[in-house]
Amino acid sequence: MTAQILDGKALADELRASFKARVAALTQKGHRPGLVVILVGEDPASQVYVRNKVSACEAAGLYSEKIVYPADVAPAVVLQKIAELNAAPNIHGILVQLPLPPHFDEKAVLEAISAAKDVDGFHAENVGALAQGNPRFIPCTPYGVVKLLEKSGIELAGKEAVVIGRSNIVGKPMALLLLNAGATVTVCHSRTRDLAFHTRRADVLVAAIGKPRFVTAEMVKPGAVVIDVGINRLPPEAGGKLCGDVDFEGVKEVARALTPVPGGVGPMTITMLLANTIEAAEREAGR
Ligand code: NDP
Repeated sequence: MTAQILDGKALADELRASFKARVAALTQKGHRPGLVVILVGEDPASQVYVRNKVSACEAAGLYSEKIVYPADVAPAVVLQKIAELNAAPNIHGILVQLPLPPHFDEKAVLEAISAAKDVDGFHAENVGALAQGNPRFIPCTPYGVVKLLEKSGIELAGKEAVVIGRSNIVGKPMALLLLNAGATVTVCHSRTRDLAFHTRRADVLVAAIGKPRFVTAEMVKPGAVVIDVGINRLPPEAGGKLCGDVDFEGVKEVARALTPVPGGVGPMTITMLLANTIEAAEREAGR
């Protein structure tokens, strides 16, 4: 069996094209969606992510602004800026790029963002709403995964779903979304005994681990749908290319459907950030 490749790039392009009319309508009414991305420090990967987010906003017609602080900035300075942005009528989304330097209390920073502008969906209020099955802002990566599954016609109700990873950014919200969609969900992590026992039972397997090619064909049930969230940079001696948490070549011979890296979940993540920001502006316009 050779798996169907779930093309996140194509769906992301389609969705982004469909956003243009919504953005134009909001802009005409004086509510052009606006996103501010705050970056603290000079982590190269974070710089790339922030640049991509800002340029995706611009391409879709949103207003966007990047605010960069040196790594040793006082947390009070960032919190003050967040307070200003919370009150700014032209800003609908505020995103603080993670990770923050160690002298920051990450949770306090995320909680300082108004829940109504928390387009990353990390504020406790938004996490709680998702846990209750009544989401307001859904974290962008798992939101993108669910959209990709939905658009690919993959039914989740009644399925065995296994998520590897329990981070607040990916694994936990992913599990909640699958549960809300009617799947029977198992969450695995580094303390899980006999990981392969769980993964081999999965009709839908989501890998969000951060270890290159960790999920091998032997760990996958024949005919499963496999979603690879991982983004890993291989060392220069191995070619320096990006690869996922799934051994793509091996698993594509076993799975029914599989996301590639790059071109799978990654483009969907930024797309759902745009979707959340536009939705925030639509809510504001409707008030
Ligand atoms: P974290 O490092 O926060 O979480 C990794 C998770 O994997 C943890 O829950 C950890 O368990 C678990 N894990 C680690 N080793 C094992 C193991 N041997 N067996 C089972 N579980 C294990 O990472 P993130 O959730 O932030 O990201 C995961 C991956 O997704 C990364 O590659 C990241 O780059 C990528 N990513 C991709 C995005 C996209 O847009 N496509 C967006 C965000 C992330 P424990 O909790 O016990 O430590």
